[in-house]
Amino acid sequence: MKSKVQQFVRKNIQALAPYSSARDEYSGKEGIFLDANENPFGVYNRYPDPYQPALKEKLAQIKNTSADQIFIGNGSDEAIDLAFRIFCEPGQDKALTFVPTYGMYEVSANINDVELIKLPLNEEFQIDRNLLQPFFSDKNLKLIFICSPNNPTGNLFRTDDIEFILKNFNGIVLIDEAYIDFCDQPSFIQKINEYPNLIVIQTLSKAWGLAGIRLGIGYMNQEILSYFNRVKAPYNISTVNQQTALDILSREDYQQKVKDILDEKEQLIQNLSDVKGILTIYPSDANFLLVEVENADELYEKLIARKIIIRNRNSVIKNCVRISVGTSGENQQLLNALKEFNND
Ligand SMILES: *Cc1c(COP(=O)(O)O)cnc(C)c1O
Repeated sequence: MKSKVQQFVRKNIQALAPYSSARDEYSGKEGIFLDANENPFGVYNRYPDPYQPALKEKLAQIKNTSADQIFIGNGSDEAIDLAFRIFCEPGQDKALTFVPTYGMYEVSANINDVELIKLPLNEEFQIDRNLLQPFFSDKNLKLIFICSPNNPTGNLFRTDDIEFILKNFNGIVLIDEAYIDFCDQPSFIQKINEYPNLIVIQTLSKAWGLAGIRLGIGYMNQEILSYFNRVKAPYNISTVNQQTALDILSREDYQQKVKDILDEKEQLIQNLSDVKGILTIYPSDANFLLVEVENADELYEKLIARKIIIRNRNSVIKNCVRISVGTSGENQQLLNALKEFNND
């Protein structure tokens, strides 16, 4: 009898004999290591630990979960790509997401030759269950991506809609919580044991301010994790990145950074709402604002000329731009520029 998860795993992945690294075959820390063709001289001469146990312990402690339910990737984009490679047969299986959303699901789908079904969000940028439900019977649909809070719309999806999908979809549900630390909604990490088909991904790139070290995290049950570990590159997180992340997670507290950003966000919302030509500031559960303006293309170019770079989302939501919350000085310069444009 196959487990629930196993039925969704590609046959070649179920049968895969993973690469057995030197550090898989002997994982002790002490000894004379003549097994990995490493250079005996130097500082970074040794391969990193393939499973990053110290960093996982730290993350488990911070997130109140268990280290043996954690995957660490070279950015969360690695986890997204692995999900396609583990669960979707190229040229045959499908994935689904709700648009507009984060562009990597589509890029990763295309790379893996997997069709991505894109269902439009409703007027409130929420999931439309009626549009979704017919797809539950598609046997080739293996994976649903839910980005909550969603990029670029900035809002959380309703918890009961997400739970509806977790309960009714016979496949893997990946919830991308890159922005979860900016809102007061609890993470779905706590539901990993309740839903065997759930993967939650988070990242150190946003609330922790560590986009430069490329560290994404997947929270999942041990069965799904075993497939991630089989398919990932053996030494996917460098020693430098593991150490840097562990250092910063041990020393710093992201709560203060988040609080500062949220204070700035409130200020920015207030100030922007006084600016002529700002038509809508959508509610945001993240560290950015989706803003409707009169002419997004024109505004984008005018700001670029001032070396102020925002994200033009006109191609996905008409006349909308996405503005990341910056420092108070940066936000002020943006506001000054917008006001000057109005006086021109
Ligand atoms: C920024 C972002 C990420 C982060 O990706 P990393 O590869 O971890 O830097 C993931 N998902 C969404 C929706 C994002 O906006």
